[in-house]
Amino acid sequence: MTGETPLIRAQSLGAIFDVSKPWLNRMLALEKKQFLTAVDTVDFDIPKGKTFALVGESGSGKSTIGRMIVGLQKPTSGKVLIDGEDFFAIKDRKRQMAMRRRIQMIFQSPYASLNPRWRVKHIIGEPIRAFELMPVAKIDKRVAELLDQVGLAKSDGEKFPHEFSGGQRQRIAIARALASDPEFIVCDEPTSALDVSVQSQVLNLMKNLQRELGLTYLFISHDLSVIRYMADEIGVLYLGRLVEVADRDTLFQNPRHPYTRMLMDAAPHIDAFGRTAEIVSGEIPDPINKPSGCSYHPRCSLTENLCRKDRPDVREFGQEHARVACHLCTA
Ligand code: ADP
Ligand code: MG
Repeated sequence: MTGETPLIRAQSLGAIFDVSKPWLNRMLALEKKQFLTAVDTVDFDIPKGKTFALVGESGSGKSTIGRMIVGLQKPTSGKVLIDGEDFFAIKDRKRQMAMRRRIQMIFQSPYASLNPRWRVKHIIGEPIRAFELMPVAKIDKRVAELLDQVGLAKSDGEKFPHEFSGGQRQRIAIARALASDPEFIVCDEPTSALDVSVQSQVLNLMKNLQRELGLTYLFISHDLSVIRYMADEIGVLYLGRLVEVADRDTLFQNPRHPYTRMLMDAAPHIDAFGRTAEIVSGEIPDPINKPSGCSYHPRCSLTENLCRKDRPDVREFGQEHARVACHLCTA
């Protein structure tokens, strides 16, 4: 971590959900309350203008981290600092709004986040009105600019979301996210629902916008090839914990955690018969009753006694300062 204040800092971030059955059921069955630790002491920084990517299987806590970072969900422990400031500690409403304007989120399913009864120009202009960023008379011109920026025509503003393809709808969602002039955008599986060819167009658009506007991204995906394309630094999540954090090239050239290696092996590839094969070893454990010691130990081929017993601390390796939580990692 550098001396300069990062735009985003996640500090010992934790999220615990109460997943207990209703009180009466518990009393009758004499069951205790149940808690699920979705995010467990997660630390990372995102410098301004860079992309930090989170990768992990479904249920590893990616979306929960995303929601905490944008202030949609209060962390159970730890905090998120934006430009050195904790959003949840800001009491003044005006300053809260000013902070909200700087942060946006793009979701996997743009159709769900776009109001089907609104014309596209209304959808894109809504943050401008909500944050009162300019006189109403100027909004149409700004919306036309935003449409152009995401590769759509001004006339598209008159249409409704259902008149567009999946890729175009994601462009609309991006234009809407850009409307408040944000500095930071959390992108939660933004292209996972799109066809591969459309996916790369949208990813390219997002990269270009980042360069032009100096944006900072938290990019969430379960797909390593997408992560590789987008990220400067990568965090690998397993059952709510970051098991490895490294810059992109280091992670792909020298994956240190056995789970990172397993993810890379599991990425679809062609077998000897020309078919695509997938190697996935083991299932994700029950997140409510996590394995003892290192949560990955039941799936790991290297497991030793220590791994069953003690939870590994995060340690730094190499000149690249890769951070790895594994007892057996040595270099
Ligand atoms: P991902 O985005 O990586 O698939 P999530 O952050 O959505 O993972 O979920 C992480 C874990 O937290 C999962 O086990 C999920 O079931 C659980 N979870 C997420 N949201 C809630 C909630 N509101 N209540 C209870 N459990 C939740
Ligand atoms: Mg998710």
